[in-house]
Amino acid sequence: MRFSLYVFLVLALSVSFPSLFGQTRVTPRAAEPREFDFYNRGPWRATIPRPATVLGYEPGSFHTTYGNYEKVLRAMAEKSDRLRTFELGKTPEYRTLYLHAVSSPANLARLEEIRTHHRRLADPRVRLSDAERDSLIAKTPLIVWFSYAIHGDESAAFEAGMHVLYQLLASEDAAITEALERVVVLINPCQNPDGHERFVAWYNTHGIGRPEPFAWEKENHWNVSGRYNHFYFDLNRDMIALSQVESQTAAAAFREWRPQVVADHHGETPSYFFPPAALPINHNLPRADYERWLDTFGRGNARAFDRYGWMYFVRDTFDVFYPGYWDSWPSLHGATGMTYETEGGGHRGFRDRRDDETEVTLRESIAMHVTASLATLETAAEHRVRRLQDFRQFFVDALRDGASGAVRRYVFPPAADPGRMARFLDILNRNGIEIERTTAPIAVTESFDYFGNAPIKRDFPVGTVVVDLAQPQGRVAKALLELESPQDAEFLLRQEEKRQRNEKRGKKAPKDEYEFYDFTAWSLPLAFGVDAYWTAESAAWPTEKLTGVWKPESPAAPAEANTAYVFTPETEGGYRLALALLNDGYRVAAATRPLRAAGRTFPRGTFVVRVDRNARSLHAQVAALAKSIGVTVTPLDTAYTDEGITGVGSGAVVSLQRPQIALLVGSPTRPTSYGTLRAVLEKIYGLDFVPVSVAALRTMRLGDFSSVILPDGSASGYAESLGEEGVAKLKAWVEQGGTLIAVGGAAEFVAGKDVELTTATIVGRDEETEETDGEAKGVETTAPVSPTAGEAAHPARATDGGELVAGSTGVPSTPKDSTGKPPVKPLPVPGAILRAQVDRFHFLSFGIEQDSLPLLVEGDTFFTASKTGTNVLTFETPDPATPLRVAGFVWKDNTEILLRGTAALIEEPLGDGHVVLFANEPGQRLIWHATTPLLINAVLYGPAINHIATGY
Ligand SMILES: [Zn+2]
Repeated sequence: MRFSLYVFLVLALSVSFPSLFGQTRVTPRAAEPREFDFYNRGPWRATIPRPATVLGYEPGSFHTTYGNYEKVLRAMAEKSDRLRTFELGKTPEYRTLYLHAVSSPANLARLEEIRTHHRRLADPRVRLSDAERDSLIAKTPLIVWFSYAIHGDESAAFEAGMHVLYQLLASEDAAITEALERVVVLINPCQNPDGHERFVAWYNTHGIGRPEPFAWEKENHWNVSGRYNHFYFDLNRDMIALSQVESQTAAAAFREWRPQVVADHHGETPSYFFPPAALPINHNLPRADYERWLDTFGRGNARAFDRYGWMYFVRDTFDVFYPGYWDSWPSLHGATGMTYETEGGGHRGFRDRRDDETEVTLRESIAMHVTASLATLETAAEHRVRRLQDFRQFFVDALRDGASGAVRRYVFPPAADPGRMARFLDILNRNGIEIERTTAPIAVTESFDYFGNAPIKRDFPVGTVVVDLAQPQGRVAKALLELESPQDAEFLLRQEEKRQRNEKRGKKAPKDEYEFYDFTAWSLPLAFGVDAYWTAESAAWPTEKLTGVWKPESPAAPAEANTAYVFTPETEGGYRLALALLNDGYRVAAATRPLRAAGRTFPRGTFVVRVDRNARSLHAQVAALAKSIGVTVTPLDTAYTDEGITGVGSGAVVSLQRPQIALLVGSPTRPTSYGTLRAVLEKIYGLDFVPVSVAALRTMRLGDFSSVILPDGSASGYAESLGEEGVAKLKAWVEQGGTLIAVGGAAEFVAGKDVELTTATIVGRDEETEETDGEAKGVETTAPVSPTAGEAAHPARATDGGELVAGSTGVPSTPKDSTGKPPVKPLPVPGAILRAQVDRFHFLSFGIEQDSLPLLVEGDTFFTASKTGTNVLTFETPDPATPLRVAGFVWKDNTEILLRGTAALIEEPLGDGHVVLFANEPGQRLIWHATTPLLINAVLYGPAINHIATGY
C-alpha cells in the first residue's frame, strides 16, 4: 500500500524544479527496485572512482582500514568539485581527524559567507526584522552534520561514512544534486579512528564470515575492543568533560559551523533505530520543536526504509537526557541531534544469525546507514527554510528564557584550586558559553548553594566568575551548571510501576528492566568541587568579559630558603610539585599533623622539602617548578615554631617515596575504569605507572611496587583470574607495606567472603545469596568480563556494564517493602549525586578542607562500614533529617535507607600496609574531579604512613 502511494506521489510530483532557494520540495526520485543496490542512485560521474575500485573489494566484504580509507578519499578528492576537506587534528595515535564539507560548487565557493550567515542567525543580539531574517535564510544553505563510528568497532557505520561520501560526490541523481544546492553536508567520517583500527586489524585477520554467534571472530577481546579511543574513553559520553582530543576538535568544528541537523551513526541493535527518541528528553531543549523535528526526520527515514521493507524501531531505548552524547550535545547547541543505530557489523561480524535463522550482514547494515543518511539529507533539504527559522528561534528563546527563568546567574567565587578552576572554565569556553568576572565586590541578596540550604545574602569579591544565562548559549550553560535536570514525570512513573511489578514477582520470574540509560546527575560545579551559587537577581553587576583561555596568575617564585620549602596538598598543583620533586630525586616529606611554620598553621599532609637533606640544586628546581606548575611555596629560614608542637623538624613529618604504581589492565577490568584511572594519574597529577595484566601480577615481583591499583571490573572475574594464590600473594605484599587500592567491582571482590581483606561487607548480599540459592549471579552490576557484554540490550551507547542501571543482566529482586517490611537489598542507582561525610583526620582525606563531599553513586553495591579499619567517607549527614541525595535519581524507600551509614571509602590496615576500597570510581569520566585527591593520597601517603594516627 505504501509503495503504491509512493508511486502515485512520484507521478504527481515528478516535475523537475529549478534549484532555487526558497522552494520547499526537491524532486522525488523515481521508484527504486525493492532490492538495495549501492549503485542505483546514478547516473554516476565516471571521474570519481568507486571505493571498491580503489580498495579491491565490494562494500561489506572486508573492513576498510583507516589508511585505505585515506587512499579512497584522496582518489575521490582529486576529481571532485563538491568537496572541501579540513583536517581537525591528530588522534593520540597520530591519525588525521577529518571533516569533509560536501555541497554544490557554488556553495563551496562561498563557505565563509555561509558560516557568517549562520553565526548571525545564532546570535539573537544581532537584531533582525522578520523580513531581514527571511532574506538571510533565503540565501543560506542548511548545515547537516553526519558523524560515523564514534565507537570504533561499529564497523558498518565507518564503511557507511565512506559510501555516503562517494554517493554525494559522484551521483548525478537529481535528488542528491538538488539537495546539495540547499545543504552543506559536513561529514565526520570517523570520530574514533584509533579504536576503529584496533578492531578491524583483528577482525580482518580472523574474520571468515561465520554466522554462528560463538565463532571466534565474534569474540570481542579486551585488548582489541575498538569501542573506546586510545585512552579507553567512551567518546559518546565525553561531550560533558570534553577531555579527549577527538571530542575537543569535533566540538570546535561544530561551534565554527553551527549545524542545524546532526545524525550520529552507530550499531548494533535488534533492528535499525532512528528517532523519535526515547524518554527522558533533557528539559533544556525546546520540547515541542525538538519532537516535531524528530518526527519529521523519522518519517523521512521511514519512507526510505519502507521502500525495502526493512525493519526498524523508534521511541525505544535511546533517550536524549545526559548531555554527553552526540545527539543531546548538538541539540543543546540548537541542532536536531539524532542517534542512528544499524543492526549488524561490529561484533556481529560480516554475517550474524538472527533467532529466526535469517542472517544480518555487514553489507546490509552499511546499506541501511547509507539509506538513512541520504533520506536525512533529503528531508533536511525539503525543510530548509523552516529548519533555519527554528534554528534562529532557538537562540532568541534561549536569550529570553535565560533572562526570565528561576535561575539567572551562576556565581563562582575565586577558587581554592585555580588549576582545576581553569579546566572547569575551559569546558564552558569550548561550549561557547560567555563568561564574566567581577571587577568590584558584589552583594547578592538571595544566593542559593548546591546543597538545598535556604538562600542567604552573600558577598563576593573581585574576580568572582559569573555565567549569566541571558546569553545565546544559555541552554547548554544551564544543562551543564544546574544542580539537576528533572526527568519526564511520565518516565519516572513508568519506572516506579515496573518496580512495583518486580517486587510482586517471585525470585525466579523475569523482571522488567528499568529504562535509565545513563547517569541522572552530572552537575559540573559539584563534579569539579568548585565553590558555586546561583541567583535569580538580574541587577547590573560590575563585570568584564573573560575571553580566550583563562589561565590562573602564576604565584611569585619563592625566595631562597635557609631551612625548608613548604606547600600544601590543597591544590592539584601542590601534588604535581611534590611528585615532580620526588621524580627528580629530591627528598620530600609530609606533615602527618597540622604544621606550624612561618607564623601560620598548614593543614595535615603539607609537603616539607628540607634544604639540608637535599642537593644544592634544590632552590633552582623548586623555584622553576613552582612557577611553571603555579604553586605557592613558602620558604622557611628557621625550624623554630612560634607555637604548637609540630614544626618542619618534627618526628610527625614523615619521608615520602616516589610512588611505584602497578595499574591492572585487561580482563577483568572495565576498560573505561582503566582509562579513567590512567588519565587521573598521568594527566592530572603527572604520575607514571606500569600497566600489568592479572597474569603478570601473579608472577612478577610485587616488592618493586609501592601501590597496586585494581580498576573497577567484575568481582567474580577478579576472583576467578587471581585465584587463591594471587590473593595470598597480594595479602603478603600488603603486610610488608604495600598499598592495595581497589575500585568498584574490585572493591566488591576485596570485600568477598573468601578474600577477607576487610571487615566491610556488601549490603544485602546475604539476602541475595539466600534468594538465588547459589545460582549464577543475577545482580552483577559492575562490569561483565567482556568489555562489551551488556551491549546487546543497549548496544549503541551501551556503556560498559557498570554504567547501565538495569542492563541485560536483569534486575535484582527487590525488598518486600510493598508489604511494609524495611528494604534489605539496594536497587541499582543510575548515577546520582549523594553527600558523604569526610573523616578529616585520616591521610586519605589530606588536602580536603570540607566536612562533606558530593559523590557520584552508581549501581547497587553498598559497603557496610568496616569494623577494623577507618571509614574515611561515609554516607551520613550531621542531621539525620537532611537527605543524602543532592541530585539525580534515587529509589524512594530504598536507596537512602540502605545507603545511610555505609562507607564510600575504606582504609583497612594490614600488617605494614593498607587496603583501600573505593566504592565508586574516583575521577569518573574525567567529569568527577572532586574525589581524585583521595586516590593520589592513597599512592603518595599510604606507603609512608603506617601505624600512625593523624588525628592530633
Ligand atoms: Zn555506538
